[in-house]
Amino acid sequence: MPATANTDTITSKSPASNDRSVSIAAHQLGAGNLRHDWQLNEIRALYTQPFNDLLWQAQNLHRQHFNANQVQISTLLSIKTGGCPEDCKYCPQSVHYNTGLGREKLLDKQRVVDAARAAREAGASRFCMGAAWRQPTDRNIDKVIELVQAVRDEGLETCITLGMLKAEQAHKLKAAGLDYYNHNLDSSPEYYQQVITTRTYQERLDTLENVREAGLKTCCGGIIGMGESRDDRLGLLQQLANLPEHPHSVPINLLVQVEGTPMHGVEELDELEFVRTIAAARSMMPESMLRLSAGRETMNDATQALCFLAGANSIFYGEQLLTTANPATAADQQLFQRLGLQPMA
Ligand code: SF4
Repeated sequence: MPATANTDTITSKSPASNDRSVSIAAHQLGAGNLRHDWQLNEIRALYTQPFNDLLWQAQNLHRQHFNANQVQISTLLSIKTGGCPEDCKYCPQSVHYNTGLGREKLLDKQRVVDAARAAREAGASRFCMGAAWRQPTDRNIDKVIELVQAVRDEGLETCITLGMLKAEQAHKLKAAGLDYYNHNLDSSPEYYQQVITTRTYQERLDTLENVREAGLKTCCGGIIGMGESRDDRLGLLQQLANLPEHPHSVPINLLVQVEGTPMHGVEELDELEFVRTIAAARSMMPESMLRLSAGRETMNDATQALCFLAGANSIFYGEQLLTTANPATAADQQLFQRLGLQPMA
């Protein structure tokens, strides 16, 4: 899909085109090319402009690339829960924290097929599977390939997240027909040490490179509301947008605070700050699918509506997101109806 954003379009349609903040931000979006060279001060100027200007600009860009009334629906299933050796401080699946979550084996194929079929019948077009591993063994990969092929046979796009991936494993998954591999950056490089110590930021970038090189589509985003500063949120966006290719899907998670994890009890994020992050992500990565992920369960409908206005165009659907709660399917259907949104085919 060609990039069509340009400064003229943005300023000429803006009712506030003589507003300095709008023209600065529009200029920073460049003239027709996706950018991979964002500087922190540019992102700060984009992000901190008046809220209405930021949303107007993001919505305008969004409409140049997508039908603004369509939302892509993904469903996420945990295929191997708990017992993870990593120490991600937000995660109830880590063995380092006592959250009462047990360790389970890899799900068998029939349970995955049943879940995929139910997701498709509920309107999902993509089925994502997550396993709590630091990195899969080659044997794990063979077993997951069987699951990927079974889900493809149900007519769904496939995405998996298994931890760090070697180049040859990525190639094997691509050859087996996998569509997307998810590997999040989680935070800015500066805040990363506060989030996880058992895996380096560079190791995450290396996995993303292996995924891209294999020709798989990347799903990569992060989590906000972990006690980070606004500059850390900008730093995360900078890392995502400055990857050699913008991720095809960008999940933006709002921390779900789970008792027993070190991040339980951190100060909650202002929801308008979350909306700003969505709008800035849309403005910086105008062709990516931008997904509202964890954290929707505690978000009211008005905030979610603002997120769609800010350019979010994908959600996780289904009452469980790995191990935490997600809005009830009926509640999402009602929200879609109230907003006139349609599932993307
Ligand atoms: S986020 Fe993933 S890698 Fe980190 S502890 Fe949880 S399951 Fe393991």
